[in-house]
Amino acid sequence: MRGKLIVIAGPSGVGKGTVVREIIRLKKNCRVSISATTRKPRTGEVNGEHYYFITRQEFEDKIRNKKMLEYEQYNGNYYGTPYEYTEQNLKAGFNVILEIDVKGALNVKKMYPQALLIFLKSPSFAELKKRLICRGTEKPEEVEQRMQVAHWEMAQAEKFDVLLTNNDVSLVTEEIIGIIDKFNVK
Ligand code: 5GP
Repeated sequence: MRGKLIVIAGPSGVGKGTVVREIIRLKKNCRVSISATTRKPRTGEVNGEHYYFITRQEFEDKIRNKKMLEYEQYNGNYYGTPYEYTEQNLKAGFNVILEIDVKGALNVKKMYPQALLIFLKSPSFAELKKRLICRGTEKPEEVEQRMQVAHWEMAQAEKFDVLLTNNDVSLVTEEIIGIIDKFNVK
């Protein structure tokens, strides 16, 4: 049986990456797609593990050659989901998780109406800002830009199938796993 496509989106800094890593650790029938981006790697980020770090030229070639399932520009950089990995794994019966931005998630729903869209929100904007500052990966002006995007993103939450607040990683991971399990028997 074909696997299910599960999209986990939400503002930058909400903790999507941590939650997705936990789901993958606990659920052997789930795989995560590694995105491609033109953003420069942060300290500690590994090519092929966190992202495929490629140039704008390479990214635009992939768009032209229809190698991207979806892509978006976020804060001046391209981010996209490679088509092949997701399709192959869905065909092989795995659930594939996409950890992407809100615009990308809404695009996926248009192409894959049967996809499950999960919106992860933080308890408040103040908390989101605190998390972005604490992780220390963006300069203050980038934190501000991400917060501006977050306001628009939060206004799209009602378009998602499920809306969850990330108060606690273990709890929200458990909730998502429960939802995926139910979704799988449909
Ligand atoms: P970051 O620079 O913090 O790694 O990512 C910025 C935003 O881009 C995050 O919201 C992240 O989820 C999103 N993103 C990462 N990969 C993709 C992708 O393949 N497609 C889209 N549309 N967004 C992505």
